[in-house]
Amino acid sequence: MNEDEAFEYVKNTLRKEKITPYHSHELEVVKSVERCINCGLCISHCPVVAAVGVDRFSGPRSIAVELSRSPPEFWSTADVVYLCTGCGTCREVCPKNVDIPEVVNLIRARIFEHRPDLVPKSLHVLREVLTEYYLAFEPWEDKEEKNESRDMRLERLGLPFVQDKILDKAEVLLYPGCQAEERAQEVREAAKVILDHFDVDYTLLDDMSCCGLPSRLMGDHETERVLAKQLKEKVKKLGIKTVVTTCAGCTSSLSDISYRNEWGVPAVHILEFLAEEIGLEKIDSATKGSTEFSDVHVTVHDPCHLIRHTSRQITDFALDILRQLPGVKVTESEANDSCCGGGGLVSYHSDDVAKAVVKENMEAIQKTSADRLVTPCPLCTAQIESNLFKTGSSVEVDDLTVFIAQRLPKKR
Ligand code: SF4
Ligand code: SF4
Repeated sequence: MNEDEAFEYVKNTLRKEKITPYHSHELEVVKSVERCINCGLCISHCPVVAAVGVDRFSGPRSIAVELSRSPPEFWSTADVVYLCTGCGTCREVCPKNVDIPEVVNLIRARIFEHRPDLVPKSLHVLREVLTEYYLAFEPWEDKEEKNESRDMRLERLGLPFVQDKILDKAEVLLYPGCQAEERAQEVREAAKVILDHFDVDYTLLDDMSCCGLPSRLMGDHETERVLAKQLKEKVKKLGIKTVVTTCAGCTSSLSDISYRNEWGVPAVHILEFLAEEIGLEKIDSATKGSTEFSDVHVTVHDPCHLIRHTSRQITDFALDILRQLPGVKVTESEANDSCCGGGGLVSYHSDDVAKAVVKENMEAIQKTSADRLVTPCPLCTAQIESNLFKTGSSVEVDDLTVFIAQRLPKKR
């Protein structure tokens, strides 16, 4: 019996008691809690505590130290663990490296398995969509309508249409993620424009499926495993050397799955691909002559899933690329790395909390006097755009992949 089989055996014997044992990799996370010295730094930096107060969200330390020990506490804390946006700030500031976002995921997984009645109803709806379509959104029923919506977006943004490339073998897999596949189609199209412009040997999937992050965040490990297995098979069959994404969550999720499931294939955000594989010089010479756009003053939002779950270097890549685009002035916001409130599936069931979290961002964006906010994630774009709009702000919001693609000369 190998380790996984032994784990499943023990798990089944404990099922009646509503107990799930910890797998060896989960034990590392749980043991990290023992290092806590109660310094309180995580509480003072948690954006949810700052936004709604400890009466509504008791905070990261309480989740780690008091609520992560045994099943009765898991059940009694259900209303707290679903309010964590998974931003990773607590882990970043913790002097003892306590992995609270992962503790949250472990607790959610146990609640999902033994007390699904405590999981917010909207997450059950999301799960049904995921298990039926292998996507986080119901796909468009009418493909023609979907294409019309895409074409209207491209026209409004001045982006050309590049035919989908679906190959049998390619160096790069362009993985747009569910949001850009079914909702923010302009981001998927902009990534194609960029890769096409630099003659990258890439393909899209003929049947796009979710990276599994929403399943992981709601605690549905079974669906997460199914989705990860599907993707691994697709990536291997296509002979892919690098997966390129346009979404912060997909980047962190696919990097993690690739490492855990030994894909041997890195997953990177398109900004990283541009900076590291294409090179700033090539981007500079490609965009130098671009005179179509008038000068624009931008500020940047850095998605948590890129800077805290992947690498802070991506912020530098974003700034390096932006600063060499003609006519672009960049002013950094004081809250550039503050959570947009859209993570951890919080907006699905507690939109008031998500809105309270993004407020700090709104105020800092206004202070920069920028005309436009850019961010390399379609989910952050949607979250910030809708909240800025409601405040009556005139600041426009663009996904950074779109912003870059717009400034490339049209290929003939
Ligand atoms: S991950 Fe973010 S929201 Fe969740 S407890 Fe930590 S700091 Fe708070
Ligand atoms: S920052 Fe780390 S050590 Fe300090 S209270 Fe939070 S979990 Fe404990």
